This record gives sequence, structure tokens and C-alpha cells, in this order.
Amino acid sequence: MSKIKSILSILISILFVVSIVGCSDKKTEAGMYNPGTYIGTADGHNGEIKVEVKVDKDKILSLIVLESAETEGIADPAIEKIPAAIVEKQTLAVDTVSGATVTSSAIIEATKMALKEAGADMSKLTEYKDDNSEIQTETEKLETDVLIIGAGGAGMAAAVSATEAGANVIVLEKMPAIGGNTIRSGGAFNTVDPENQANLKMTDTLRESVKEAFNAKPENDEHQKLMDEVKVQFEAHENENPDVLFDSPEWHALQTFMSGDMEGDISLIRKLTNEALPTKEWLSSKGVDWSKDIRAVVGALWERSSQATEEKGSSFINPLAKQAEENGAEVMLEVSAKELIVEEGKVIGAIAEGSDGTSYEITANNGVILATGGFSANVEMRQKYNTIWSDLGEDMETTNHPGATGDGIIMAEDVNADFVGMESIQLMPLWPVSGGGISGYVNNVMYINKSGERYVAEDSRRDVLAQGALDQEDKIFYIINDHTEVEDIGLPQEQVDYMVSEKMLFKGETIEELAKEINIDPSVLKETTEKFNNAVEKQSDEFGRLVWGNKIEKGPFYAASYSPAVHHTMGGVKVDINTHVINKNGEIIKGLYAAGEITGGIHGTNRVGGNAIPDALAFGRIAGEKAAKSE
Ligand code: ADP
Repeated sequence: MSKIKSILSILISILFVVSIVGCSDKKTEAGMYNPGTYIGTADGHNGEIKVEVKVDKDKILSLIVLESAETEGIADPAIEKIPAAIVEKQTLAVDTVSGATVTSSAIIEATKMALKEAGADMSKLTEYKDDNSEIQTETEKLETDVLIIGAGGAGMAAAVSATEAGANVIVLEKMPAIGGNTIRSGGAFNTVDPENQANLKMTDTLRESVKEAFNAKPENDEHQKLMDEVKVQFEAHENENPDVLFDSPEWHALQTFMSGDMEGDISLIRKLTNEALPTKEWLSSKGVDWSKDIRAVVGALWERSSQATEEKGSSFINPLAKQAEENGAEVMLEVSAKELIVEEGKVIGAIAEGSDGTSYEITANNGVILATGGFSANVEMRQKYNTIWSDLGEDMETTNHPGATGDGIIMAEDVNADFVGMESIQLMPLWPVSGGGISGYVNNVMYINKSGERYVAEDSRRDVLAQGALDQEDKIFYIINDHTEVEDIGLPQEQVDYMVSEKMLFKGETIEELAKEINIDPSVLKETTEKFNNAVEKQSDEFGRLVWGNKIEKGPFYAASYSPAVHHTMGGVKVDINTHVINKNGEIIKGLYAAGEITGGIHGTNRVGGNAIPDALAFGRIAGEKAAKSE
């Protein structure tokens, strides 16, 4: 069991006492290495990783990651564990760290390069050494007030709120690092935020879309009530503040409901949109540093995507982890929950297993929270539930981390939980085929296919964008940006240059030059861009785009290629607004709560881009408090 470590610095130095036994078989007359200090480099996820290796004649003395641009939080376990394992085992045949395989492999490759330089016999260095001899077999019994399964956004928010409510908390995380998909996300957080939305403009096309929404045919009474509320708010806004972008929690809720094809539960949706701003403020109190810019992330439909200044999921996970640790929550890494323990109809804990073989039986006196995320990385499960897309098999990539395998769904099934919308699986249109890109926002971008033509409104729902892309040649499209976007989002120039040098991103000083880089007829792309710029001026086009930004006119110009990938499983366990899990008879399962992507009922058939993080954090926060108080 280990408490969360404070955030690791990129530079980690590891010096290990190497056992004599470990190296004796390698000792030769001439020695294994030419003693000295050697440098090696290899490409990681975000750029070059540089390592420094010190060797004497017989062994590797130390291995340090000198430089790395890998993502904080996600890559940390690899940067910590891989050098340690190489030095300890004196081999390059070490296991990669799950969830950080690219970084792991890059460290191994860079070390290989350095050791080659040191004159090593590479065949000896790649021998695999079995280290399973010390597998634990005992069962450890633990007791706590609240047991949280999963340390992503929902789990960490729950850990903070449960400890704030005075509960003892254990969080189980099956991966070597916390954060789940939340830490991998761009961190868009949709919320109405009148203060920061005050400088956004209302246009006639936006006005029409609001009117169309509140005049639509109602699906049920709750829908009618929501439309009526939006109508009253909109008309008041038109009288008082017509030039400023209209927004309200009810309009956010109505868009969320409609975007999910009226399949979502309006009471859950309202809870989400009402709790989003208080949750944003709560996160500020935990140290989240918000940008003042509000934009529309892809599929957000409206300019209400808040973002932390660093624009990534770690901006939420790190402050929450720090707070949870300060409050005394105990996070057990590499411990996977396997089964819920039920006594007299109440969930009272879980059976879990550590990666070292230890079995755990954990009793939770006040409640168990399922915060295990979705099942996008479980090919079998997504094939089982999918009824919408033509194929979600192995060939379809996922944006998710490898731990997103739906474990919580299976555990909940075993205690008779009910499920909603399991067939609704979201494809993220923006899987980076070339590997890079400038912007995930929709405001200042143009999407084109391989013929150099636009084919969709870039601000469409994600399912429309995904299907649109699947219909193009090779299921590929390009996002075109001009340099204004690089400046606007403050992307460091060296990052842009690195992506260009690695062909993750294509660049042209003129739009015609860019066209040549991506094998598109320059005259076609020029014409498409001119037409697009005219549409920006008119704020309207043949695809019905509503959210408009800048023209594409200031060089250099950039393109990156994309294709859809499995991104979010919108269905899941049925919950009420207080995060209680509901069983197949419509009753609350005592002692069991769920929050985040494991739950269903909010997003319907299509999740609004930027709604997942407030969903996980707002409901995670509620779950922690409710479970702590056994409410
Ligand atoms: P959410 O946004 O709903 O919080 P995330 O994907 O961010 O979802 O986080 C879910 C977390 O739950 C991940 O870190 C994942 O590794 C973890 N997890 C999934 N299954 C288990 C399990 N059986 N035991 C412990 N942790 C789990």
C-alpha cells in the first residue's frame, strides 16, 4: 500500500546498489563495458528523451533520464520504474509500464544506444530475467469508511469530497499511476460562466438555433418544461443584453438533451449543468488555475468550454491528488478491484488483487464508489454492445488508456445493477493519424478531405463529425489552421517545429505550399480556403456551421491528419442524481454509488464535447459526500 507520491519531477536520478549475484554471470575477461558515462536518445511520445548511463567494467551503475517532454502524470511511472528496473536487473529486457508504453520503450531504446556506445554485448543485455519468484499469496484485510474504485477524475474528486466530509478513504487504482482517461484528456470543462463569457458575441444564426430548440416538438413533459424555461430566459436576455452570447444551465441542459437525441435523463442532465459552475469554483479552491478564455471544444456546440491554463487533464488530477493526500486519503496503486462484497443486500466492500499477487479484502463502513471509467479499451465489450457503428473491432483505435476495460460494469452486473444506453459509444473524430496537430477547438479551423474539399460543419455533433470522416477516402481528413491559432492558444513554437520535423504536422508558408505537402491539388485547396473565408465573413455556409472564428489567412499554414477512434462509452450503470446505483427493480442498491464514465443516462446517444470532465468531477464530488455520510 502506498500513499500518493507528490508529483514527480521529470528529472529523476536513480542509483541502486547492484547485487553481486546479478552480475557475476556477465563478467568476462575483457569486461562487459568500457567504463564511463554515456548519453543515449530516442523519440518518446512528445519529443526526444535523453538518458545518461554510467557503467564500470561489469555493470550499469546508474541510469538517469536527463531530458524528456513526456506528459506529466502519464509518463512519470515509466520515468521512475524503467531506469530502476534496468539498473536493478542489469538487462534491457524489462517490462514496459502499462499506460506509458511509448515512454517506457523510448527509455529502453535510448539506454540501448548509450550502452552500444559503451561497447556492450547487446545479446546479453536483452536476455529476459524472470522476476516472478517473489509473488505474494497472503490476503490483507483492510477497513475504511469509503472505498473508491478507480483514481480518475471521478474517483479523485470523490476522494477529496469524502475526506472533506470527515470520512477515512481508500482509493484503489489498478494502473501504476492515477488519472485514468481524465489525465489524458485536453481538459475541456463545459460550464455556464457569466463572468468569463461576458465578452462573447451573440449572432443571428445562434439566436435562430436557440429559438429552434425551444420551439421543438417536446419529447415529454420534462422536456417541455426545460424548453419553456429557456424561452423565458432567452427573451429576457434579448431585452437586456442582446449582443452578448446567451447561456444558462437550462440552455446547456437543453443542448445536452437534444444532442443525445433526447435519450438522456433530464434530471441527471440538469444536475450536471447546475453543478458545473459550483464544481469549477470548488476546483479553484483546490488549486486549479483556470484560463479566462472560453471557447468551444470539438463537439461542444456552444462557447462554454472552460479550460485550466495548462489545458490538460493533469491540471485537475494533480491538485485533487495533492488535496486528497493532505486530507489523508490512501491511494493504492496497481491494485485492481475484482468483486463487490454484498451482505444482506448491502454492498460493504470489495475483493481486490495487487500486481504483486497480494489479495485484499476491504470493508467499507459507509459506502463503495464505482469510479472505474468506461470500456473503450475493451474490444470484446465494445463489439458486444455496439449497434450503431459498422465495426468497432481491433482495427479501430481508441483514445483511451489501456485500463478502460469496463471492470466496474462487470462488478455492477454481478450485484444486479441496471444499465442504460450501453450501445451508445462515442467515436472521437480527432484521432491524430499523423501524430500531431495544433488545435482541438472548432472556432478557427477548417476540415478538408483528401481531395481538398470541406465536407462537414466543423462545429457539428461528434457523431456527425465521426460519421462524416468515416465516409471520406481512407476515413481520413485534415484539420487546417493558420498561424493565428498557434498564437491564440499559445502553443510553444518549439513544439510546432518538433511536430513539423517529425512529420506529425505539415507546414506551408502559403496555402498552396501546404497543399503540396499533403498531396492535394494546390488550386483546389486555395479555392476551398477562399470559399471558407467568405463563409467566415458571412457567418454562414452550406453545411450550417454556427460557431465561427478567424479566417484562415495568416501564414504559415498547418495541416494534420485525423480519423475517428473509440473515445467514450456513454452508457453505463443507472444512477439517480445523488449517485446511488439503481438495480433492475428500480431500487437503490444500498452502499453502492457510481460516478463518471461508468454511469449512463446523461449523454444519450451523443455526448457534447467538453461535458465529460464536469460529469466526472461534479458527480464524483457528490458521490464522495453522499458515501461519506451514508446518505
Ligand atoms: P472517470 O472520468 O469516470 O473518472 P477515468 O478513466 O478518468 O474515468 O478513470 C477511471 C480509473 O479507474 C482509471 O484510472 C482506471 O485505471 C481505474 N480502474 C478501472 N478498473 C479498475 C479496477 N478494477 N480497480 C481499480 N481501478 C480501476
